[in-house]
Amino acid sequence: MPEAPKAVAVASSSHNSNGSLTTIVEKNKRALQFIDDVTSSPDDIQTHVLREILSRNFDVEYLKLRHRLNGATDRRTFKKLIPVIAYEDIHPEITRIANGDTSPILCSSPISEFLTSSGTSAGERKLMPTIAEEMDRRSTLYSLLMPVMSQFVPDLEKGKGMYFLFIKSESKTPGGLPARPVLTSYYKSSHFKNRPFDPYTNYTSPNETILCPDSYQSMYSQLLCGLCQRTQVLRVGAVFASGFIRAIQFLQKHWPLLCRDIRAGSLDPSVITDPAVRETVLTKVLMRPDPELAGFVETECGKDSWQGIITRLWPNTKYVDVIVTGTMSQYIPTLDFYSNGLPLVCTMYASSECYFGVNLNPLCKPSEVAYTLIPTMAYFEFLPVHRNSNNGVSNSISMPKSLNEKEQQELVDLADVKLGHEYELVVTTYAGLYRYRVGDVLRVAGFKNKAPQFNFICRKNVVLSIDADKTDEVELQSAVKNAVDAHLAAFDGSVAEYTSYADTTTAVPGHYVLYWELSLKGTTAIPPSVYEDCCLTVEESLNSVYRQGRVSDKSIGPLEIKIVEQGTFDKLMDYAISLGASINQYKTPRCVKYEPIIELLNSKVVASYFSPKCPKWVPGHKQWSNNMKN
Ligand code: AMP
Repeated sequence: MPEAPKAVAVASSSHNSNGSLTTIVEKNKRALQFIDDVTSSPDDIQTHVLREILSRNFDVEYLKLRHRLNGATDRRTFKKLIPVIAYEDIHPEITRIANGDTSPILCSSPISEFLTSSGTSAGERKLMPTIAEEMDRRSTLYSLLMPVMSQFVPDLEKGKGMYFLFIKSESKTPGGLPARPVLTSYYKSSHFKNRPFDPYTNYTSPNETILCPDSYQSMYSQLLCGLCQRTQVLRVGAVFASGFIRAIQFLQKHWPLLCRDIRAGSLDPSVITDPAVRETVLTKVLMRPDPELAGFVETECGKDSWQGIITRLWPNTKYVDVIVTGTMSQYIPTLDFYSNGLPLVCTMYASSECYFGVNLNPLCKPSEVAYTLIPTMAYFEFLPVHRNSNNGVSNSISMPKSLNEKEQQELVDLADVKLGHEYELVVTTYAGLYRYRVGDVLRVAGFKNKAPQFNFICRKNVVLSIDADKTDEVELQSAVKNAVDAHLAAFDGSVAEYTSYADTTTAVPGHYVLYWELSLKGTTAIPPSVYEDCCLTVEESLNSVYRQGRVSDKSIGPLEIKIVEQGTFDKLMDYAISLGASINQYKTPRCVKYEPIIELLNSKVVASYFSPKCPKWVPGHKQWSNNMKN
């Protein structure tokens, strides 16, 4: 099997602080060669990966006792005996591990921690087991990104990246394992913290600012450092588009304060209290007063229009590195506005379960982004998906929750997917997930050598998303029901029809909008406070990732209910039918994205109400409430 490039080892052999050019060239060549090798024989590599995973784990309870795999390591037996599963199927095993059972249940290597996925189960984040060596696999994937990028944009080693990176709160399971998001785990690891100098991981944000647990101080100090080093910045970004836009909006709100600090060469002690952040920023970045820079930033930020603010403040920026595929595509117009149309670059596709792949053509249009899955990362299978055609009305896909025997046999291997076909991704990982449905739908867009490249189509069932939150139709339905039962029923009122919309354009941060057509039988007028209570109850009923976005990350704004006039949903149906929907099969879409439909709904709004306060949220799972640690 081709050996992964040793990113860290190579980088550490650089001779000077700019990274010796020959070392960089060699390192890039090695990474590109690795990609070429693994994409040339994906099927062989996949056979090897599966064999390795199964032989290492032949003795684990899940394979040996629950599914009687009997030490087999070949694909045929594996596919015959091991079912395709979703999270709920291994929930009992996950709970045992979380509660402290250290016997080899899913994996022969010790589970080092749980990665808390933004996907949810029963309203709580899913817990993905991981093992120490997975960190190397993630690092390998990261080490491929800049060599790929450098083929298209030269000289990136000559400056810095201004990336807004954050950690989130974490908790411990009752058995004492950390439970935290994968990026928090990565930024806190020595792989990230003690990385040797490498021009490609040379960021304007010192580690201390990224690792600051207070999100306000972290954002403030990262922006300040980015402004102080503005001429060195060659690329800007965040993980998701929503995070980058949040940084720009933060700047919009706080530039006078930032300029005051830059002018004074100090950090306002009432704003930045974190000692590590103060120390590092004051000794390494903001070392003296810089009235000239402060004046410049003030002039630019004080202008009426913020169009092109990125290129104005960071004039050497060559691209914006953020994920704009999937639900994040809703942010493309805003990013174009702030960046004056700089290339938007999506470099990788990854999850808590496993890091999947890279975009080998990073300067392509966002709508054309295709990720090449790296066959060494895991064993991949693909479940064919048949999506409903939807005339732009909804974007839902229907798939059975658990697969029957015939469907289990429909899964194809990485080397067998067909151009233009859509599939749901299923992974078998080194950390103990076997034939696990990730929940993403991908379409084959092309091939690199013999390895397929995939467009990200959508997340299965998700109807609403602003940031990391993913709300599905069932959750939304039950949240609406809770609100109606708790507040409208007393007035003899109910919701005759509803739909929803993730509004990311009228306000920042974006927020969920519910359009409700009411059926009112009572005679008492319903006071506005009742609708506001409905908003809050819906929020309280949504999953923990949503509530964290509202409370801790402040990445989601208050939920809004818009009451529409009677007959609005009939008009919606007429419209869908005029677009070609079948009258017999028409169902009200529970989420709308198509601009003319949103305009139609908005034209019928008679009143609108917002959630008056944040819903409740605490880190960790509900059932661990005695065991929490920030
Ligand atoms: P999490 O498990 O919270 O890390 O979220 C992982 C999920 O985020 C994936 O399964 C995708 O649904 C989504 N995601 C990750 N990378 C991308 C990408 N490049 N484009 C679109 N969606 C992505």
